[in-house]
Amino acid sequence: METMTCPKCQGEMAVHRRGGVDIAQCGSCSGIFLDRADRTSLVENENEWHLSSGPRTEPLPRITASMPAPPPSPARPRYQSFLDGLFG
Ligand SMILES: [Zn+2]
Repeated sequence: METMTCPKCQGEMAVHRRGGVDIAQCGSCSGIFLDRADRTSLVENENEWHLSSGPRTEPLPRITASMPAPPPSPARPRYQSFLDGLFG
């Protein structure tokens, strides 16, 4: 298996496979690193876990470039402070 070098401390990293996802952990600083594809798999595994764990948990939304913008934040009061109200 290909060995990986820790980008933080240059230590040797061991790769563990957890739930179909390769997780590289540094033997020196214990840092954990995932690549982009693995993060996606983790989210999918997390969602599957939530789906199977009961009706009260919601799956995480998948963030995509085409998803709509989040709703606007709650309406702010017109004035930021009492003094703004006096002089606005
Ligand atoms: Zn390290």
